[in-house]
Amino acid sequence: MFIKPKKSLGQNFLIDRNVLEQIVDTVEITNKEVLEIGPGSGNLTTFILKKNPKKVYAIEKDDELALLLKDKFVDEITIINDDVLKISEDKISSEKLTVFGNLPYNISTEILSKWIVNINKSFWFENLVLMFQKEVAERIIAESNTSKYGRLSILSNWKLNIKKIIDIKPQSFSPRPKIDSTLLLFTPRDNFFKIQNAKNLEMLTRVFFSQRRKMLKKPFNQVFKNAKEISEKFNIDLNLRPQNLEAEMYFKLVKEYESLRC
Ligand code: SAM
Repeated sequence: MFIKPKKSLGQNFLIDRNVLEQIVDTVEITNKEVLEIGPGSGNLTTFILKKNPKKVYAIEKDDELALLLKDKFVDEITIINDDVLKISEDKISSEKLTVFGNLPYNISTEILSKWIVNINKSFWFENLVLMFQKEVAERIIAESNTSKYGRLSILSNWKLNIKKIIDIKPQSFSPRPKIDSTLLLFTPRDNFFKIQNAKNLEMLTRVFFSQRRKMLKKPFNQVFKNAKEISEKFNIDLNLRPQNLEAEMYFKLVKEYESLRC
């Protein structure tokens, strides 16, 4: 059955066998529980199943595709016909999941941010193998002191270790996207820096990076009443720019902000 891809749901289906194989070879999934985000027409799902996982769950928002997948895989997979942004993934299974997702690009950072922010003590996943637009992936993995470094790099590095796997060309998809894609592997950082409320990290990095070319003096004064004292405590030169501070320093500043407000 031919289903017209829906642009609004970011439907670019993977058709390159080599790439599909590389994706499922990223981590070992034999006898493990797997969650696929946006299985689409099931191309990646087929390759996942070849690896003999213990169980496969798949979240697909498109009703038409969810029906097609039920027909195609019958009881080989459990389809959750819902919006990934509304699901509580930690309720899906009592086992830690390996997640695969050729993510819809319009909501890829929203999905990743939701997962990071919602983790409190323990992780519901063992690995995340996710595809992003190349430009977004570069921002996720960017190091401090580079132009791509910013809010997304800091948030991602907070609770996750990140490794780039491969770049993928537009011709590996149908319909072809206009841009290159990149596959990233994320694994939990068990000892991530504890802050009280992720909203404070979001606020602080928003204030700092909305004026990324300005010296730190300005955002520091906006966030802290006693900016000079705090910059001295952490040995921060206020003539530097936001991109010069490592992620760890942002977490320390959030902790300081939280302690001052208690
Ligand atoms: N995995 C398939 C592949 O690689 O060929 C399809 C990937 S396609 C880029 C993204 C998929 O995510 C589509 O099937 C789309 O319908 C689905 N999708 C889009 N928004 C979604 C949402 N909010 N929740 C769940 N699935 C969604």
